[in-house]
Amino acid sequence: MKIVHVCSELAPCAKVGGLADVVSGLSKQMAERGHDVQIIMPHYGCVDTQGLERIGEIDHFSTVLSGQEHACCALRFSVCDGVELLLLDTISGYWRSLESIYGSDVERFLFFSRAAADWIQARELPDIIHVHDWPTAILPAICPGNFVLTMHNFEFQGWCQWSDIEQIGVCRQPSLEKIFADPHGDCLNLVKAGLLKAQQVTTVSTTYAKELSDPLYGRGLEGVIGQIKGKFSGIVNGIDCAYWDPERDGFLHENYAYSQPLSKVIEAKRLNKKHLLEQLGISFSEKRPLASFIARLVPQKGPLLVHDLCQSVQDIDFQCVVLGSVATPELQEAFEQLDIELRRSDKGAVVLSYDEGLSHRLFAGSDMFFVPSLFEPCGLTQRIAMRYGTIPIVRRTGGLADTVTDGENGFVFHEPSLSAFKESFSRACAVYNTPEAWERFVCCAMREDVSWNIPGGEYLDLYERLISA
Ligand code: ADP
Repeated sequence: MKIVHVCSELAPCAKVGGLADVVSGLSKQMAERGHDVQIIMPHYGCVDTQGLERIGEIDHFSTVLSGQEHACCALRFSVCDGVELLLLDTISGYWRSLESIYGSDVERFLFFSRAAADWIQARELPDIIHVHDWPTAILPAICPGNFVLTMHNFEFQGWCQWSDIEQIGVCRQPSLEKIFADPHGDCLNLVKAGLLKAQQVTTVSTTYAKELSDPLYGRGLEGVIGQIKGKFSGIVNGIDCAYWDPERDGFLHENYAYSQPLSKVIEAKRLNKKHLLEQLGISFSEKRPLASFIARLVPQKGPLLVHDLCQSVQDIDFQCVVLGSVATPELQEAFEQLDIELRRSDKGAVVLSYDEGLSHRLFAGSDMFFVPSLFEPCGLTQRIAMRYGTIPIVRRTGGLADTVTDGENGFVFHEPSLSAFKESFSRACAVYNTPEAWERFVCCAMREDVSWNIPGGEYLDLYERLISA
């Protein structure tokens, strides 16, 4: 089967969040099953192509943007056996001039979708075209093919105006007006068009798929989701277990594996914790549990719950490290202040950047991992934490509800309140103080199958159903 992903992110070369991990992990899984996968992405200025092998000739093609014909090129790279990455750009370097992946404009992704559609149509159509989130959701409406749209987050829907999509040659006409009209506004909604036009639509967990009928989660698209029930399903994300592998992870001070005796795992985690805290300039103590929080610092992730927990829990001796990126100005300021307070009392630190290596060291060196999200379509960090024997403390929502079992491989709270979060954290700390009980949690978390094996099979079934329909 030939599968083409058209997307805005790919791990690790152009990553902001989980979407990047999913495209990479799912593609590799399909290649392992013998399928032929291509990933099409813009050639942003920030793409890190080091470690990727250039292959083949440069493909030249043209596309019409804003009424003008533009010469474009596609550079090919090999990601691994069976997975090829195509980076698209205009000859004049439209996407290479973009420093960051996302901006405040929809133009960059409308242009990209047009260019990707033109590239695809100039060749033999693949069996499946898999698009992701609002940046590429317009494709099923402008390009022929068997489309799967995966929605990783309904918070962003690609709201825009007719003048925006007219630039990529979509002409205003009554049938399209209906498809693109935002249910609640006088604007267009690219995700809505994708939901209606794709032959299959998925989201990234079964609980989030159910939650989406509630306006709080569906963000205005709950009615449309109700209309497409027959082609809509939830598939929980896996993680790329070759990349997230404590046995081979090159970022770690000490490698370890589930196949080793548990005492070895515990000792390796202890050494990783010591090394990590030394690196961060915080003193190490065996008795104090270390909790970490790695996220985009946006309201969705519940960062203020972590902030307030760190400030208000006085009766438990613990340490906490926060690694946060893309913070809003208010959150940036609040967390800069928290860093000062944590460091002053030797209780932890806040690092405000995107840091791949530090994230790996935190997954391995921490005892607990916070995911107090207000909503969470799937969430990958709790799954990565489990693979590294770090116990997640999560809110019961979306994929967190599907992947963490309270009292077995993690701790779960329901109300999005500080008191509920504190209660589950206290329970975790009480278990931490009884090493044998804690080790049972570590063992249970590491035993979990967090790979792409099961979800890969579910996507394959979906692709096969679509092809044979
Ligand atoms: P989302 O896609 O909503 O951001 P996910 O939990 O699905 O959340 O995926 C987040 C991914 O991004 C994980 O691989 C996580 O380790 C990574 N990540 C998030 N913030 C940072 C950061 N500041 N530095 C390094 N990695 C980060």
